[in-house]
Amino acid sequence: MSVASPNNTAAFMADLKAKNAAEPEFHQAVHEVVESLEDFLNEHPKYRHARILERIVEPERVIMFRIPWVNDKGIMCVNRGYRIEMNSAIGPYKGGLRFHPTVTLGVLKFLAFEQVFKNSLTTLPMGGGKGGSDFDPKGKSDNEVMRFCQSFMTELYRHIGPNTDIPAGDIGVGGREIGFLFGQYKRIRNEFTGVLTGKGLNWGGSLIRPEATGYGNVYFAREMLKTKNEDFDGKKILVSGSGNVAQYTVQKVTQLGGKVITLSDSSGYILDPDGIDDKKLEYVMHLKNNKRGRIEEYAKKYGVSYFKNKRPWSEKGDIALPSATQNEIDEADALALIANGCICVSEGANMPSSPEAIHVFIKNKILFGPGKAANAGGVAVSGLEMTQNSMRLSWTREEIDERLQAIMRQIHSTCCSYGKNENGFINYINGANIGGFVKVADAMMAQGAV
Ligand code: NDP
Repeated sequence: MSVASPNNTAAFMADLKAKNAAEPEFHQAVHEVVESLEDFLNEHPKYRHARILERIVEPERVIMFRIPWVNDKGIMCVNRGYRIEMNSAIGPYKGGLRFHPTVTLGVLKFLAFEQVFKNSLTTLPMGGGKGGSDFDPKGKSDNEVMRFCQSFMTELYRHIGPNTDIPAGDIGVGGREIGFLFGQYKRIRNEFTGVLTGKGLNWGGSLIRPEATGYGNVYFAREMLKTKNEDFDGKKILVSGSGNVAQYTVQKVTQLGGKVITLSDSSGYILDPDGIDDKKLEYVMHLKNNKRGRIEEYAKKYGVSYFKNKRPWSEKGDIALPSATQNEIDEADALALIANGCICVSEGANMPSSPEAIHVFIKNKILFGPGKAANAGGVAVSGLEMTQNSMRLSWTREEIDERLQAIMRQIHSTCCSYGKNENGFINYINGANIGGFVKVADAMMAQGAV
């Protein structure tokens, strides 16, 4: 039984850290939520009496497994696989798979925890989960990636299903990997079902799913900007990453009249003062999705600057859309953004801003959209893919884009309802955390001791 005092954040966090040692990202994600909820829970003691906080930080189930596979040289390799089934109060577990050498139990628990609130915000009936492996797809051949994915699914298949747990992509897991994983699930189960989302278009995938996270983040930022009578037109935008989320962020920003001047990967960033237009974006997509090359090659091709082992946040931009990974904006980066006149930060990635960076944004009262609200468009369209799979039909591009825009508007309005301060400032973190919490907490209370 928990020894934490039910209304003391410090004691609650001390207890959580003792129980979940060496999981700093998980501590960070939980702390942000618990801090946001403090006043709300004091006003609504029923949630404390029901020990919802103590329950919501404990995964319903954690699966850890061995993934043996043979590389192209015939050498046996072994990685570790995980699936965190965090919360199924409002629907089956839903959340991506991440293949990256930095994957640990703590990283996936932070992502699964955030996913519970995010999925609740989408208005769709999805619980929260996350999984992945410390496998690094970089430098591996297609055949090696296939053998790895097959071995991964050979264990995972027994824990997932279209009504139980429906994984999707995340860092290192795109269309190629989802294909290999789906193929192996189908062979083992002898069943063609919507067990994964992010599938190819002619085998159960949804239009707009690849675009959804990037587009959704831009739609969310557009809603935030509207509250200040601003828009993307003529603005300079800093984007980090150059993968799935970053690419479609660039595309949508350009369509709305903004100019994206940076992109990055884990080796450095490029600065293109003329802007990354559609033609240059096509090059980035080919470079990253087919050639699987480095962003440095963009600088060589277009004769622009490349900054090795640096992040783009000291460049002058009006809006920042971090789209790479967690904790990629620290306090110094945040101060640099503010000093350069940045008016809006909207998180395409999960938890890209450190707590100190967030403090700087809130103190300076800029528009700050936390990932669990701003990047929920990806899982929202995954939810729409599940619906289409169940109904065995496909909606048009326009129909899905319209639904995505409506969902992002709805998430924005939920954040405003729960996050508006007396002075009119909208604290989107509080809004997203409280708005995401209520639905899940009420469902848990209705379902008894779950
Ligand atoms: P991709 O694998 O397609 O791209 C990831 C990008 O981030 C790459 O450019 C990668 O560079 C860079 N990156 C990864 N790790 C690091 C690191 N440690 N330091 C610096 N750069 C890094 O992933 P996605 O675009 O799908 O995901 C990006 C972010 O968006 C993640 O935080 C993810 O959780 C989040 N997200 C994704 C969703 C989706 O639908 N895909 C949904 C919601 C959130 P490199 O090539 O060098 O590894």
